[in-house]
Amino acid sequence: MDLIYEKCNHRQAFSIPKGQIPEVSFPQELKRQHPAELPEVSELDVVRHFTHLSQRNMGIDTNFYPLGSCTMKYNPKIADVVSSFAGFTQLHPQFLYSEVYHDCIQGALELVYHLEQLLSEISGMRAVSLQPMAGAHGELTGVLMISAYHKHHNNTHKKTILIPDSAHGTNPASAAIAGFQVQEVPSNSQGTLDLDCFRKSMNDEVAGIMLTCPNTHGLFEKDIQEIAELAHKYDALLYYDGANLNAIIGQCRPGDLGFDVMHFNLHKTFATPHGMGGPGSGPVGVNERLLDFLPGPRVTKNDDHIFNLEYPKNTIGKSAPFLGHFLVAVRAYVYILMQGSEGLKEVSRKAVLNANYVLAKIRSAFPPAYDRLCMHECVLTAMPYHDFDVRALDFAKALLDRGFHAPTVYFPLTVKEALMIEPTETETKETLDQFCNTMMELAEQAKQNPDELRKAPITTPVQRLDEVKAAKELNVVHPVNTSKP
Ligand SMILES: *Cc1c(COP(=O)(O)O)cnc(C)c1O
Repeated sequence: MDLIYEKCNHRQAFSIPKGQIPEVSFPQELKRQHPAELPEVSELDVVRHFTHLSQRNMGIDTNFYPLGSCTMKYNPKIADVVSSFAGFTQLHPQFLYSEVYHDCIQGALELVYHLEQLLSEISGMRAVSLQPMAGAHGELTGVLMISAYHKHHNNTHKKTILIPDSAHGTNPASAAIAGFQVQEVPSNSQGTLDLDCFRKSMNDEVAGIMLTCPNTHGLFEKDIQEIAELAHKYDALLYYDGANLNAIIGQCRPGDLGFDVMHFNLHKTFATPHGMGGPGSGPVGVNERLLDFLPGPRVTKNDDHIFNLEYPKNTIGKSAPFLGHFLVAVRAYVYILMQGSEGLKEVSRKAVLNANYVLAKIRSAFPPAYDRLCMHECVLTAMPYHDFDVRALDFAKALLDRGFHAPTVYFPLTVKEALMIEPTETETKETLDQFCNTMMELAEQAKQNPDELRKAPITTPVQRLDEVKAAKELNVVHPVNTSKP
């Protein structure tokens, strides 16, 4: 019966337009005697297959995603629409390098030029280059500029970069790759940079200091002015890790706080979808001191309003091919224009409000690492459940079964059993309430029924993984669990 059914039911998911494919002739001996037995599926099968695959992942469009330090905010669809205009997507990057074509790409160059100006205005920096392709890449570019600056001034004794213990791991990595020695500065009991230790660490060998502000404890570095003054007294440059810009955008500017060089994470603050490795964009901004060291080429505008490319005088060279991730830049441009300056101020206000709301609602079960109001994210600890043998990781996994992406866990490294929650400004109070209620239920469950919590997640395509092995020996072929979350 199956056979008869198959014979009468030809399925196929593709169709080839008639008459558009030229005839070719094969020698007789190469032709098949029988049609190949290829598996065929219907169009509906194909659609279902890919739709199911697309639903296996969590994303901001489907679930609350409070992944601290990553600013997983909603990305307005208009930015996608505009960045998919043919004038942007069909632009051949090689056009940049041949002046013959500069006539045809004036619009794209203008966008880059204008976005760099907007980012300069937002950050209080003198100029911005869109080249670096991620935050970490921006850090490396920035630290290479610091290195070039000191070489240029014959500061051969400058060997060290100071970095707080709360910093993102990419900071010391970038400084080391650029050839510097890294020295850690501890945090104080309030969760900010220990000023006394910082003073003791400052000397003529310090080339620069990398700071995140608010830092990764979600706290504003209130001594920033004093830090900047001391750094500059020793001719050390101050680097701003801009990953947390969402907390201060429109309220204060890194350039005004005394920073010399910084990166932005367009894929965090400026609403480009991210996660799973990119594409991102990590533009660098500099003040007057580093202006001539920026990566090149840079887009310039002449008196006739024609856009061209030029290399700054002491440029460190290219940090990426072409102008970086152009389509990410288009999205950021749309987002900034859409928000306007009032909208951007509202972003940081609401991001900080939302984080403090979550902090206030669940702090009785998950105490904050530092007992203060927070900025755009709160860092809590799951230590109270240590005695029940329930860890931050168990809460993270249990949230997946309840339709929430996990917060960042075990970072920053300074906090034991850290849960780093960044709700972002785009979430409603209703969503935050659902999340907070769930966290409180899980806290109860951790005490009453810890075994159950340790089994989570049970509704996801795969359950608990050996995370190290999964990263090193990736195997996505065998779905373990096909039931839908
Ligand atoms: C995300 C992040 C970075 C690195 O940015 P990528 O774009 O992921 O390379 C650096 N510092 C902090 C604090 C971050 O959160």
